[in-house]
This record gives sequence, C-alpha cells and structure tokens, in this order.
Amino acid sequence: MTGSSSAAEQDLARTARLDVLVAGYVQLPHVAGTVSLVRDADRVVIVDPGMVSDREQILAPLRELGVRPEDVTDIVLSHHHLDHNLNVALFPVVPVHDFQSVIEGDVFTSRPADGVRISPGIRLLATPGHTPQDLTTLVGTPDDVAALTHLWWTADGPADDPYSVDRDQLREQRERVLGLATLVVPGHGAPFRPDASTPR
Ligand SMILES: [Zn+2]
Ligand SMILES: [Zn+2]
Repeated sequence: MTGSSSAAEQDLARTARLDVLVAGYVQLPHVAGTVSLVRDADRVVIVDPGMVSDREQILAPLRELGVRPEDVTDIVLSHHHLDHNLNVALFPVVPVHDFQSVIEGDVFTSRPADGVRISPGIRLLATPGHTPQDLTTLVGTPDDVAALTHLWWTADGPADDPYSVDRDQLREQRERVLGLATLVVPGHGAPFRPDASTPR
C-alpha cells in the first residue's frame, strides 16, 4: 500500500454534507456501529448501516433531515463485521460498495476500492488495518476533510486494535488517513479532530 496521497485524494471537492446519524459505542454486551449519511451532488450515501438497539435510531434522524430510505442512492460498508452492515436491508436495492466490489441486486462487479470516486466530494480509500478488508470513506465538506473509518474505534483508539492482524499496516494506514483528514468519524464513537494524542 502506498503511504502517500494520490491525485484522486487531492482533487476531492469540498461540496459534501456529512451527518452522523448514530455515534457508535462498545459497552459489552451492547454494541452499536457509527452510521453516517453523506450527501453530495446527486448522491445520498449511507456509510455503515450497522448494529443499533432499535432501527428507529437510524430512521428517525434520517426523517429529521428530510431523507427517506428510498432516497438513498448508495451504501458503503467500511468492512465485513456485522456491527457495521446488519441493517443494509433497511434501504432499497442500491449499489453497495465494499473493499473489493460493488454489488447491486444479484450483480457483482469486482473492483478495488482505492481511489473510487462516488461523487466529486466522496472517495473511497483501501485502508487495511482493523481487518484486511477495511476501507475509509473520505468526504470533502466546506469545513473539513472527514475520514469515516474503523482505523479507530473512538478518539482513544484503542492504540492496539485487538482485531488487527498486522500492526504495522494499521499504523501505516492511520498515518495515511491523518495526512488527509481534519475530522475522523470512528467506528464506535463520536467524531473527533485528530491531534498529537491520537493513537498511531
Ligand atoms: Zn470490525
Ligand atoms: Zn466495529
């Protein structure tokens, strides 16, 4: 994997709107994944329609934002753990993007995620580290470049992800994302602005 930013990352438009619908948590046995809505140009994207205590926790904030499930045009899965994709069927059949493919209905199209442009302000980056199948959704808003990613569970890390099979890869991808993003939306916590204390 490259540790530097590519041209595709640098020409990210700053036109998207990001709304975090659910800030996830891990308080075993209770777990919820962070669920986000990103709107840019003609795209209405749900990132990680994951595990929540009640599906209304996803649907109610969507309603408040004036978005119906049938308005959603794309779903992005950060990786293949159920706490981040359990509620994919709340939404109509739309393209579902993961690290290796786009799936729509029963049509499987193979493609690597890195550099995929969903809209001018939304890019996918392959960021293996938490699992080998992780991707990060990079979102350009007027105020931030946001990284929606499971490279961190929360602002506190964990410093050593117990799921990671390659600690050096995790560190490399964290550094890569920190070189691009001013805001991190982690897998199980509230958005945070990375600083010197952010686990690498
Ligand atoms: Zn996971
Ligand atoms: Zn998770």
